Amino acid sequence: MIVSVASGKGGTGKTLIATSLALSLKDRDNVQLLDCDVEEPNAHIFLKPSLTDSEKVYIRVPVVDEEKCTRCGKCAEVCAYHAIAVFGEHILTFPQLCHGCGACSYLCPEKVISEEGRETGVVEWGHSDGLGFVHGKLTVGEAMAPPVIRKVKEYPNNDGTVIIDVPPGTSCPVVEAIKGSDFCLLVTEPTPFGLNDFTLAVETVRELGIPCGAVLNRAGVGDAGVQEYCQKEDIPILLTIPLDTEIARLYSRGTPLVDGMPQWKDSFLELFNRVKVLIDERNRYTKR
Ligand code: SF4
Ligand code: SF4
Repeated sequence: MIVSVASGKGGTGKTLIATSLALSLKDRDNVQLLDCDVEEPNAHIFLKPSLTDSEKVYIRVPVVDEEKCTRCGKCAEVCAYHAIAVFGEHILTFPQLCHGCGACSYLCPEKVISEEGRETGVVEWGHSDGLGFVHGKLTVGEAMAPPVIRKVKEYPNNDGTVIIDVPPGTSCPVVEAIKGSDFCLLVTEPTPFGLNDFTLAVETVRELGIPCGAVLNRAGVGDAGVQEYCQKEDIPILLTIPLDTEIARLYSRGTPLVDGMPQWKDSFLELFNRVKVLIDERNRYTKR
C-alpha cells in the first residue's frame, strides 16, 4: 500500500506527518519512507537513518555530430523544451533544459544525434531503527527533479507499506511523486493561504484519480474556510493537530512528533486505519 503525503505549499508540516506516520506503523508493519522532496529532502533530519548505499541519477541528453548535421532544424522543431536550437550554421544544445525525452535523436532525419548521460542527482537508502528509508537529492543548480523522483520510486518494498513524502506545490515533481499512490494525505493549515493551496492540491490528486483526505495542522488559528471546503467537497479530515509550542519546538529540533510526544502515536495509527477503510471502500466501489 502506498500512501503519499503532500501539501499545496511548503511549511505546512508535511514531513512531520510523513515521518510520524511511518514511525507509528513500523512496529506492526514492514514500512518504508521515500523522501521524494528531492530539492530539499529533510526526512533524514528526523529519522537519522544509517545510509548504506547510493546510486547516481543521470538523464540522457543529446550530443550532435556537427560535421554531419545538415542544420535542417527538425530537432529544434520537435523539442518542447527549447533545449536544442539551430541558428544559421550553429546548432546549440542546452542540457539543463533537456528533459531527456529522446525525441530529437529519434526524429533526426540524418541520425546524427547520439546521447550521453548527465548526472542530475543521487538516490541514497538505508534504515532507521527498522524503518526502510530512501531519499533523493537533486544536484544543486539542476532543475529536473522528476528523473530523481522516478529513481527514488524504484526502491519501494513490494510487500509492505510505503509512505511517500511529496515535494510541496502542484507542479510536475508533485505529480511524479504522487502517481501510483493508493491514497494521498493532503496536509494543510486553516488559513486563507492554506485553503488556496489546498484547493489546488485537491484538484491535482483528483486529476490523477487518487483518493485523498486532509490533515489539518496548526488548528486553532485562522478561520473555518478549510473545514467548510472539505465539507462541501466531501473530503474527510482524518487528523487534526493543534497549534502547539511544544510541537513546534520538537520540529525545530528535528525530533519526530511521535518520539517527542508518544501520545500522538495512537492518533497516527487511527489515521492509517481510516485511510485503509477509505481505500477498501473505493476498491469495492470501483469493482462494481
Ligand atoms: S535534426 Fe539532425 S540534421 Fe537536422 S538540425 Fe537537428 S541534428 Fe542536425
Ligand atoms: S531529448 Fe527531448 S528535451 Fe532533450 S533536447 Fe532532445 S527533444 Fe529536447
